[in-house]
Amino acid sequence: MSLRPTLDFLLYQWLGVESLPSRERFADHSRETFDAVLDTCERIAREKYAPFNRLVDTQEPHFDGERVILPQATHDAHKAYADSGMLSAAQDHDIGGMQLPYTVEASGNAFFAMASVSIGSGMLTTGNANLLMKHGTALQKQVFALNEFSGRWSGTMCLSEPQAGSSLSDVVTRAVPDGEGFEADPLGPRYRLTGNKMWISAGEHELTENIVHLVLAKIPDENGKLIAGTRGISLFIVPKQLVDTEGRLTGERNDVALAGLNHKCGWRGTTNTLLNFGEGKYPVRGQAGAVGYLVGQPGRGLQCMFHMMNEARIGVGMAATMLGLAGYHASLDYAKQRPQGRAVGPAGKDPAQPQVRIIEHADVKRMLLAQKAYCEGALALELYCARLVDEQHTGTPEAADDARLLLEVLTPIAKSWPSEWCLEANSLAIQVHGGYGYTRDFPVEQYWRDNRLNMIHEGTHGIQATDLLGRKVLMEEGRGLQLLAGRINDTVSRALQQPALAAHANALAAALQRVGAATRAAWANGNPAEALANAVPYMQAFGHTVLAWIWLDVALSALAHDAGQAQAATVGRIAATRYFFHYELPKIAGWLPVVEGRDPTCAELPEEAF
Ligand SMILES: Cc1cc2nc3c(=O)[nH]c(=O)nc-3n(C[C@H](O)[C@H](O)[C@H](O)COP(=O)(O)OP(=O)(O)OC[C@H]3O[C@@H](n4cnc5c(N)ncnc54)[C@H](O)[C@@H]3O)c2cc1C
Repeated sequence: MSLRPTLDFLLYQWLGVESLPSRERFADHSRETFDAVLDTCERIAREKYAPFNRLVDTQEPHFDGERVILPQATHDAHKAYADSGMLSAAQDHDIGGMQLPYTVEASGNAFFAMASVSIGSGMLTTGNANLLMKHGTALQKQVFALNEFSGRWSGTMCLSEPQAGSSLSDVVTRAVPDGEGFEADPLGPRYRLTGNKMWISAGEHELTENIVHLVLAKIPDENGKLIAGTRGISLFIVPKQLVDTEGRLTGERNDVALAGLNHKCGWRGTTNTLLNFGEGKYPVRGQAGAVGYLVGQPGRGLQCMFHMMNEARIGVGMAATMLGLAGYHASLDYAKQRPQGRAVGPAGKDPAQPQVRIIEHADVKRMLLAQKAYCEGALALELYCARLVDEQHTGTPEAADDARLLLEVLTPIAKSWPSEWCLEANSLAIQVHGGYGYTRDFPVEQYWRDNRLNMIHEGTHGIQATDLLGRKVLMEEGRGLQLLAGRINDTVSRALQQPALAAHANALAAALQRVGAATRAAWANGNPAEALANAVPYMQAFGHTVLAWIWLDVALSALAHDAGQAQAATVGRIAATRYFFHYELPKIAGWLPVVEGRDPTCAELPEEAF
C-alpha cells in the first residue's frame, strides 16, 4: 500500500497546491516540479531509510568513550538526504535553495518519517538554520546556516536542562562575556557558557564535520545574579568545533562534552544526549567555558525560538501521523492475509466452512477504520496547517494575517492531536496483529515505541493544552477562535447541501457551539487555576471538533472529484468521515462537562489521598 495516492489527493484536489506557482515566490514551480520532489523523497526513503528502520532500533547509538558510533546505514541515509537538497528546500534560489512551498517540503519529508522516523530527515538542522536566517547576522547566516543547509554541518536545539523542561524560565546555564573586546567578534558578541543541557537530540555524532548547537542561557546581571523568568534568556550559537569567518574549522575543539547518552524507549536511531557546556574538559585558549556567539538581542532568546515553534510543532505532528500511517498500512496488509475464525451467519458459525481472513471480521474492520480515520485525518490537518504557513509567507496582507492567527490556534492541535490519536492507532495496529504484534518480529511495536515520544517533547500534552485554553483561544480577543469558527461554519454550510453529509454537518455545528460554550464556561469567573484544571479534556474535545471539520471538508472534496463514480478511495474517505462522526465526535460529550463545570476532582485532591 502506498502513501502517494492519499498525499496526491490531499495536496492537489483538496488543498489546490497546484495553484501556488501563480505566486511570485513559487513562480519557477509547477505540478511537475512538485511531483519530482515527491518522487525523489519517496525513492530515497524506500531505498535508504525503510530497510534500516529495525536496524537502527536494535543497534542503538553507543559511546566508546571518545566517539558516538552509529550504524553505517544512518551515515548513508544522512548523505542521501543532504544530497537531495531537501535541507534547504524552502530557501531562496540565490543561496542554493529550491524556494519550495512548505506544504510540498512537509509532504516530501513525510516519506522519511514513515520509512524511519528516527534516522531523521534533518528537522533539527533545518529548524536551527531557519532560525539563524531570521535572527542571525549576515556572517552568522553565511558561516553557520549555509553550512547546515548544505549538510556539511548539523544543528541542535539546546533548551532543556535536568531541572528545567516544561518550565524554561528556570534554565541556569550561564553566559558571561569572553574577555576584552568580546562584543567585536565578527561571528557575534562572544560569551563563555557553563551549564548542563539534558535530552539534546543529535547532540553528539559523527555524521557531520561539525555540530552547531543553539543554546538558551542567561547572562548574569552586574551582581552576578541570573534574571528570573524568561526575560533573562538569551540565545547563543555554540559550535562543537570552533570555526573562522570563512567557515573553516580552526582545529580547536569547543568546551562542549558529552556526559552520556540517554537510552530511549524508541526513536533510537537519533542520539539523545546530556551535554556539559564549559566544564573544562576541552579548554579553549587555556580556559574552561564553551565559546558561544549571541544571536539577536540579549534577553530575547525565547522569542527567537518561538519563531520556529509553529513549523517545529507541525513537524512533530507530522512525525506522529506518519508513524500512525506506517502502523495502519502494516496492519492492513496483515489483516488481508491472516486466516482466523469463521464468518458469523444468521445461524452462527459453521465449522465446516474454511476460515476467513481477519479483515472480514467486523471488529478488525473497526480497528482498521479507526486507524484510517485518525491517521489520514491527521495528515490532512498537518497539510492544512502547512498550507497556512505558505499563506502566512506569500498571501495578501489580510490573508497572511488570518493564516498567522489560525496557526496560533491550530498549532497545539497539530502537535498534540496526532501525538495522542496516532499513538492510539499504533496500539490498534498491534491489536490487529494479535500476539504477533506484541513481538519484535513485526514492526508495529516499534512504531508505538517511536511514537510515544511525541506527547512528551516540543511541549508536553499538558503544556499544549494549557497553551490552547489559557492563551490561544483568548488571544486578540478571541479572534483566532472566531476565524476558525468561520472556516468550520463555511464547511458546514456547504456540507448541508449534500444529502450524504448533511447529518454530519449538523453534528459539527452542534460540536462547535458546545466547544464555544465550554470555553466561556471555563473562564466564567476568570480564575486560571479553575479554568485550566481540565485543559487536557478541553484540548481533546477541541481537537476532535477540528478533526471532524477536516474530515467533513475532505469528504466534500472527495465527492466533488468523484463525480458519482464511487471509486474505492472515495468510498473509503466517506466511510472514515462517517466513522469519525459516529464513533469519535460523540466523545466530546464525555470530555466537556468537567471543563464546563470547572470540575475540581483532580485539582483539589490532597497529596496524601493518592
Ligand atoms: C527523546 C527526547 C528528545 C528530546 N529532544 C530535545 C531537544 O533536542 N532539545 C531540547 O531542548 N529538549 C529536548 N527534549 C526535552 C523535552 O522537550 C522535555 O522532556 C519536555 O519539555 C518535558 O520536560 P521534562 O522532561 O523536564 O518534564 P517536566 O517538565 O518535569 O514534566 C513532567 C510532567 O509534568 C507535567 N507538567 C510540568 N509542568 C506543568 C505545569 N505547569 N502544568 C501542568 N503540568 C505540568 C508535564 O506535562 C509532564 O507530564 C527531548 C526529550 C526527549 C524525551
